[in-house]
Amino acid sequence: MKNVEKYSRAYFVPPQTSVRWIEKDYIDKAPTWCSVDLRDGNQSLIVPMSLEEKLEFFQFLVNKVGFKEVEIGFPAASDTEYEFCRALIEQDLIPDDVTIQVLTQSRPHIIEKTFAALKGAKNAIVHLYNSTSVAQREQVFKKSKKEIIDIAVSGAKMLQEYSEKAPNPYFFEYSPESFTGTETEFALEICNAVLDVWKPTKEKKVIINLPVTVSHSMPHVYANQVEYMCNHLSYRDNIIVSLHPHNDRGCAVADAEMGLIAGADRVEGTLFGNGERTGNVDIVTLALNMYSQGVDPQLNFENLPEVIELYEKVTGMKVYDRQPYSGALVFAAFSGSHQDAIAKGMQWHEEKGCKTWTVPYLPIDPKDVGREYETDVIRINSQSGKGGIGYILEQKYGYRLPAKMREDFGYTVKGISDHQHKELSPHEVHQIFKEQYLNFFTPIDVTEVHFIQKNGIYAVVTAKVGDEVKEFTSNGNGRLDAVANALKNNLNMDFSLLTYEEHALERGTNSRAVAYVSVSCGKKVSWGAGVHDDIMTASVNALVSAINRAGLCLVDKTS
Ligand SMILES: [Zn+2]
Repeated sequence: MKNVEKYSRAYFVPPQTSVRWIEKDYIDKAPTWCSVDLRDGNQSLIVPMSLEEKLEFFQFLVNKVGFKEVEIGFPAASDTEYEFCRALIEQDLIPDDVTIQVLTQSRPHIIEKTFAALKGAKNAIVHLYNSTSVAQREQVFKKSKKEIIDIAVSGAKMLQEYSEKAPNPYFFEYSPESFTGTETEFALEICNAVLDVWKPTKEKKVIINLPVTVSHSMPHVYANQVEYMCNHLSYRDNIIVSLHPHNDRGCAVADAEMGLIAGADRVEGTLFGNGERTGNVDIVTLALNMYSQGVDPQLNFENLPEVIELYEKVTGMKVYDRQPYSGALVFAAFSGSHQDAIAKGMQWHEEKGCKTWTVPYLPIDPKDVGREYETDVIRINSQSGKGGIGYILEQKYGYRLPAKMREDFGYTVKGISDHQHKELSPHEVHQIFKEQYLNFFTPIDVTEVHFIQKNGIYAVVTAKVGDEVKEFTSNGNGRLDAVANALKNNLNMDFSLLTYEEHALERGTNSRAVAYVSVSCGKKVSWGAGVHDDIMTASVNALVSAINRAGLCLVDKTS
């Protein structure tokens, strides 16, 4: 890349690092979650949500997903934002245990309008921010550090004054916006200056939010910055340290997780990582990462397809096929070895009655987030193998094919998928089985069989061969053997009966039986299956299918 000299490391390492966080290897409890879908998420959409869409999304976030804090917008920024805030309050749509959060700049008329928008709200957080980064100070505001602190302090004072006049005391949040582009000591200085105005108490805690407004560093650098802030902020016991990572370097989830183990208490993010540029941190991923390690995230993603449907409808965005936990393909296994391992893992868990999930290739049980094994996990294409194809037939349609037959059927299905250049649905796999293996009655169709006990077993077989109806008899070691001999001897065929297996196809009293038979002729092995209410008829059907599929009977020669 020829322009590499253009860039340098634009982040700041705190003056001291203790890296205590490195000793923690997982997050042991859910943080306080704050959805910023309706603010950060909305302001980054090509077409922002309408009032109706925002109302529907808000209700979904609090009633279905279970968010207790939702940043609903920037009421002073536009009429729609203002009206949305008023609609929530006036239509009494905010549950008592839910706190709405609104964003404001440190300017008198904006703060005034923000408080007007909140009139009547039971629980609210007023979120004050100003940009503190070197780039913004120099290029945008052209102000000194002291002047930047003055902006924050004067805003903090105004919030204090307006809040005292309001009927309900509101909570406060302060963000040194573009924290990751700010000298960490300066971010600390400005936060402490704001805290000295608000003087947080146990009853009235203050949120200090440390946004990765733009991501500049690796996640451990952010963790060091967060830990430094946690160690040096005044009133730490009465402060909720909050994270707000954006995903410019693809590290928003890692930033949030490392920030949490470095001491933060709260995370602001969005569903599926919607938000400015590369988006905010994906709360679904964060929550399910915790869940997959046995920690209840305190949010409900048990029906992710429903969450995705609503999200795509109101935002007009699409959830990417490989988005962690949510994407259409994230549980899918096409390749034979993966399918085989999953099928065996599932069987092992079922047989052992295993309580802890350890199935290979599946970090969580897809059923826990509303996905299906048959349609979402084992997917059939030309890469697939006998394990997965057999699994589909067994789980969805009840056929437990003998191992060698699975292999044979696997090749048939793969061949078709390869030839057609497409994925095959479970229904299509079942159709192939029915058309090519099951009750396959051309050119030979055995229409009737009687057995006579006379020096062993005699079979009297009525068969339609091509257009002719014939009757044959022969004896054998068993019933199926007798039928095989009758066909073999009278139709000039040479084959041996190799395999015979059967099982009930459905549970219960009216169960049908399925039989599987293989015959060999020289080196060639042919498989057939038969289904019937009567097990003997199912077996004969399987035998006839195997013979027909092998092409052993030449109608011209025998007619
Ligand atoms: Zn943001």
